[in-house]
Formats: sequence, structure tokens, C-alpha cells
Amino acid sequence: MDITVIGTGYVGLVSGTCFAEMGHDVTCVDVDEEKVAQLSDGEIPIYEPDLDRYFERARAEDRLRFTTDLAEGIAGSKIVFFALPTPPGEDGSADLSYVLDAAGDVADLLVEADDPEHRIVVNKSTVPVGTGDRVEEAFADRGLDIGGEVDVVSNPEFLREGSAVDDFLKPDRVVIGTESDRAAETMKRLYEPFVRQGNPVLVVDRRSAEMIKYAANSLLATRISFMNEIANVCERVGANVDKVRLGISKDHRIGPHFLYAGIGFGGSCFPKDVQALARKGREKGYDFQILDAVLDVNDQQRRRLAEQVEDYFDGDLDGRRIAVWGLSFKPGTDDTREAPSHVIIDYLLERGADVVGYDPEAIETTKETFGDQIAYADGMYEAVEGAESLLICTEWHEFRRPDLGAVREHLENPLVLDGRNLYDPARMAEMGFEYHSIGRPSYA
Ligand code: NAD
Repeated sequence: MDITVIGTGYVGLVSGTCFAEMGHDVTCVDVDEEKVAQLSDGEIPIYEPDLDRYFERARAEDRLRFTTDLAEGIAGSKIVFFALPTPPGEDGSADLSYVLDAAGDVADLLVEADDPEHRIVVNKSTVPVGTGDRVEEAFADRGLDIGGEVDVVSNPEFLREGSAVDDFLKPDRVVIGTESDRAAETMKRLYEPFVRQGNPVLVVDRRSAEMIKYAANSLLATRISFMNEIANVCERVGANVDKVRLGISKDHRIGPHFLYAGIGFGGSCFPKDVQALARKGREKGYDFQILDAVLDVNDQQRRRLAEQVEDYFDGDLDGRRIAVWGLSFKPGTDDTREAPSHVIIDYLLERGADVVGYDPEAIETTKETFGDQIAYADGMYEAVEGAESLLICTEWHEFRRPDLGAVREHLENPLVLDGRNLYDPARMAEMGFEYHSIGRPSYA
């Protein structure tokens, strides 16, 4: 099948590459000329495990192309995906201008092409309930026959950055929101190779599909904030959140996932999606109280390490060298959007600290935000050289078993604030660190 993906970011590039892997002819369209030039030259602008392998194969077999020209991109295409940004607007609601503008542009081109072929326009972006109706209106308003020439489908994406290719190739479920049997059949056929192990392709109405994505992300974010609050209480009552986690995770009603205490969630999805759902509720006269609390707890948790280090130095961070390990919002990606590390770095810089950051993949993306306001280390030991404290923000594998003796030697002051509970507190104390983690006993 000829497939177009509009928007070639984390979701668009991974989706396009994986559809090409299954033998489809995929054209990815993006307005970012530099990105399209890079991709056309065979260079991948993001870090995502395994993406290079599939990308190179698809390109070698000429099944994956890139263009800035929308008309060229959609010509002859059976399915047009939107994988466009839906960032939060000023009031927290999702900014739909990218999706709606693209819908208008595609509709204009289809009118111009005057081609009776049936097309499916699929929204993969995370969009509030009812957006599919607005996209459909863009086509109907231009006189296109809905159900005849065009069907508008919701197909929310559940991939996780850091394991995006694997998630896309083996999804837990595929959700397809449409009332059109014809569109549902084509979409089911498209996804068949991805669910050969028996995971379901759920066909639901379009509004429910849109809601599923928000409900899933909001529930996951709620678990994170809930466990962070449990951790904060553990610290006050002398309990250990890691043991509490193990104890509750064995209850099959709860399960083991998303129960790790830490320094809050970030990324381009959870904060914005939780905000957008809370906002949608308010718009409809419903006060979604849990989600407001989830966001408040997260804001507080993301500042935590910075406040702790400030307290340790009695409010005086001016000129102090603070090392930060982990800049991406989670391991396995170079994405730093809404990363807790960036909230912490902002806080430290405002108080005059000298920050030196290290990350295996996210130095370049961090430079886009902080430029030369902070220093960047080539390795994790170099980062701690002469620092008065080490803050651990992302649980990359290489931080799990470092040479702690070398870390101790390099640090000018042995304070380690671990936002990801990577080390054994008692052992850290034995080694001469002052070590604090989240929801576990500290040994000074
Ligand atoms: P992204 O910012 O990485 O990529 C978006 C791309 O769209 C960019 O390359 C941008 O240049 C391009 N673009 C903007 N306007 C365009 C236009 N008019 N025409 C063509 N291209 C245009 O975004 P993303 O992380 O891939 O997210 C896309 C959507 O998918 C969002 O709604 C997001 O919430 C959702 N989503 C993201 C993830 C994730 O992990 N990143 C997971 C699931 C769902």
C-alpha cells in the first residue's frame, strides 16, 4: 500500500519506517527542510534503539522517502497519517493548529487532484476527543464525500521513546476509531503483521479511540505521582518505598509496572496529555480533581533534588559546581522535552550554581536549551571532577554500576542525590558518601 506520514518526528519517523519494514511504500512529509535533507541523506536526526537498522533496510529497498512537498507526499497515497505535534496551548489545552492546518491542506490538494480514489486520513497525534470530527469537517467543507472519497480515522499511538521501534512492531494493542467498515477493514489489514502474536486490534468509535489515549497516559501518570507521594510518606515514617513497591506489585490487581518512585515524569506526552484531559474536563463543566493533583505532585517532585541540594548548602549555591548525570527525560532517548533534569538545572542556574551535565545521548538536545549556560562532560567521571554534589536524574544503564570509588575520589564533597534509587544506601554510606534517594532511608 502507498502510505503517507505527515510529520516526521519520533512518532512519524518510527511509524513510517516500521510500515516500510512490512513492505509498504512510505513517503514521510515534514516542513523542516533540514530534517528532510538529513533523512534523505540517510541520517537519522533522533536517537532511538534499532531504528537505524530498519531505516537503512527500507531506504536500501526504496520503500521510504522524504519530502517537504505535501502534494508530492500524498499523491497516490491510500492512507495519510498525521503524526503532527499537539503541544499545550497557553491554557493547557492541546494546540490543534498543526493537525487542523494539515487537514485543510490535504483536503485542498484532494479537491485539486479530483481523484475519486477512496482515502483514509488517520490521526496518530494525541488529540482531544472530538478532533476527528473537526478534521472530518475540513474535508466535508470542501465538498469531499465522507465515506465515499475520504474516511477520517483515529489511531492513537502508544509507543514509548527509548523502545519505540519494538513497541511499534509489537504493540500491546492497536486502537482504531472509526464508524466506517471499509476504513476499519483496511486499517486491520495494515496492522495484521504487527499483531501476529495475538494482540488485539480494537475497532471502536472515533471519540472513544481519542479518549483511550488520554485515559491511558493519565492513568500511568497517576501511578507515578501516587508512588511519589507514597515515597514521600515512607521517608517520614521510616519505611522503604522499594520494599513497599515489591509488596504491592505482587497483587495481580496492581501489577509491577509504573510503580517506581523518582523525581517525576517528563517527556513530550504525560505532562501535556494530563493537562489537556484536565482542561477538556473543565471545558465540559467537570473538575477532574485527581489530574490536578497528579500535576501538582509532579511539579513538586521534579524540583526535589534541586531544593535538597540548596538546603544542604544553606541556601547558598552561588558558584558551586554541581554535576548532573542524566539529561534526557528517561533512558534510551535523546529527548529532553519536559525532562526533570531541565527543571532542576533551571533552578540551579537561577541560584548561581555552576552546572556540569553528562548524558550518553542527550548532550546535543540539552545544548539546544541551555547552550553555554552549563558545562558538558564527555564522560560520567569527568562530570563529577571537583563537583560539590552529584545529582542523578535519569537511570541510564551505565549509571547503575559505575566505579563508585572513582566517583568518591573525583567529588570534592561526597554528596550524592539520587533521583532514581540506583544504589544501596547502606553501601553508599560505608563508602563515605552522604547519599539521599527517594523514599528510602538515608545514611549520612
Ligand atoms: P515531534 O515534535 O517529534 O515531531 C513532529 C514533527 O512534525 C516535526 O518533525 C515537525 O517538523 C513536523 N511538522 C510540524 N508541522 C508540520 C506540517 N505542517 N507538516 C509536516 N510536518 C510538520 O512530535 P512527536 O513526539 O512525534 O509527537 C507527534 C504526536 O504524537 C503528538 O501528538 C504526540 O503527543 C503523539 N505521541 C507522541 C509519542 C512520543 O513518545 N513522542 C508517543 C505517542 C504519541
